[in-house]
Amino acid sequence: MAGPATERTAIVIGTGFGGSVAALRLGRAGIRTTVFERGRRWPIRPDGDTFATFTNPDKRAAWFGSPAGANLATAIPVEPYPGVLDHVVGNGIEAVYGAGVGGGSLVFGSFTPVPRRRDFELIFPAAADYPELERSYYPRAKRMLGVSPLPSDILSHPDYVGARSWLKVIDRYGADPHFFDFAIDWDLVRAELRGTRPRGVSIGDLTYGVNSGAKKSLDHTYLPAAEQTGNVRILPMHEVFDIRQRPRRRGFAVTARVLDESGRTVRTVRAEADHVFLAAGSFHTTELLVRARALGILPRLSPRIGEGFGGNGDFLTTRSNPREDFGAVQGGPGYARIYDDDLPGGPASMVYQATPLPSPLGKALTTNLVQVHTDERGSIDFDHATRRAVLTYPYPEGSSDLDRRANAFVERFHYRTETRYGYPANGIPLSSRLIGFGSASTYHGLGGVVMGKAASMNGAVKGYDDLYVVDGSFVPGAVGLVNPSLTITALAERTMDRFLATR
Ligand SMILES: Cc1cc2nc3c(=O)[nH]c(=O)nc-3n(C[C@H](O)[C@H](O)[C@H](O)COP(=O)(O)OP(=O)(O)OC[C@H]3O[C@@H](n4cnc5c(N)ncnc54)[C@H](O)[C@@H]3O)c2cc1C
Repeated sequence: MAGPATERTAIVIGTGFGGSVAALRLGRAGIRTTVFERGRRWPIRPDGDTFATFTNPDKRAAWFGSPAGANLATAIPVEPYPGVLDHVVGNGIEAVYGAGVGGGSLVFGSFTPVPRRRDFELIFPAAADYPELERSYYPRAKRMLGVSPLPSDILSHPDYVGARSWLKVIDRYGADPHFFDFAIDWDLVRAELRGTRPRGVSIGDLTYGVNSGAKKSLDHTYLPAAEQTGNVRILPMHEVFDIRQRPRRRGFAVTARVLDESGRTVRTVRAEADHVFLAAGSFHTTELLVRARALGILPRLSPRIGEGFGGNGDFLTTRSNPREDFGAVQGGPGYARIYDDDLPGGPASMVYQATPLPSPLGKALTTNLVQVHTDERGSIDFDHATRRAVLTYPYPEGSSDLDRRANAFVERFHYRTETRYGYPANGIPLSSRLIGFGSASTYHGLGGVVMGKAASMNGAVKGYDDLYVVDGSFVPGAVGLVNPSLTITALAERTMDRFLATR
């Protein structure tokens, strides 16, 4: 599939969803491409011990300086290491990102839903063109990521009683289940259930990586395909800290520090290219640009860079003491979303996420991710005193519009599924930020270089030719009541089509 190498060159910064799409498309077009990734590679080891596990978190779960845990409320300190989860602690929110070759796909729950048109269009500008995405780019993204629904034989396994029980709960609510795809190799989940592979997906343990290899992370899909073109070179443990215009010619010079496993800078390397594609994730892509603007290195960048950060309308809740059996362990990744379009604050969605509690605690509670629409947006700004970017999300618990809408939905859910049947002590929602739930943190930090604002609708960063954004920073803070990775992939595919058609 590789085109013949041309004299043109590109640099991609980051190997998450956007970066992987860019790398493959550039490689296929014959453009010599260098990909900088700050984290390490995570090949699946035959001994089943590639990643840390939920019950035994260790340094492999935490990017340098972060504690190991799904959120800070439950995290433990570990020695510095290039682990897979990066906790960006902001003012008013914690945003969690993946780190390593594959980015967020190493840690993601593998949920790959398509948003409904009406939810997408409440957030995105009309020019984002949902019909085109639906026609061309969502199908392509699905095919490339290799996604599929939870198969019926796995659903009927005893360890998936939780997913089946969830269907009964939502039936009591009076809603229809919406089924969607997951980026999972179900044959390897079957092997987990037979005991021939270490358990991960089948016990809901996906957040630190999946030791059986059942997660179809980007290092198993887009990235090897990009390397096979012969035109793409991925450089792990290379953290970019500077982007500037090339002196005499069009294009850019990018500088990265090469890290060792203790976080020490071994050396710095500089590379030049005709085109740069930013894909370091919403916070870190924005950080690179707000720094370059503040230090006068790229002074023509839009003043709107740093605006529009959102947590995708996420609100994490638990239902404790469920009436149905959710199993001693909860087979994952999760199941079926419901929508309620009849809430006073506008539509909301809720999905079941398997929780990797050690057996037999799976019966004690379930975790549910709620998503609502909200106009609340934060910012990513450069702090001259620390010379770092700061995330600010100024919506305290209690006064936040997002919390109000989500709590109203969660309370209605409890009433309609339990209280009205005489079971108020079952399915009790717990959503306090104090214990890391509600909107205390998000796995879906988006925005910062938003389409139609700091970037054109084609992904070109305003102020500089040949500088593009292809990751979650391009998205206006939310994708519309679903998890965002498939939408980021689809938008990146479209950006690359347009780039290759015109340049
Ligand atoms: C625990 C968890 C679970 C999630 N579950 C789901 C899910 O089930 N479904 C879903 O749709 N989404 C999920 N997400 C969100 C999803 O992972 C992100 O939306 C997605 O990965 C964002 O893609 P991206 O292209 O913006 O960049 P990312 O995937 O964030 O990748 C950015 C990459 O850039 C690298 N990088 C950062 N800074 C630099 C630098 N200076 N130099 C070089 N490299 C750099 C990072 O190490 C990383 O590899 C989850 C996220 C988390 C944290």
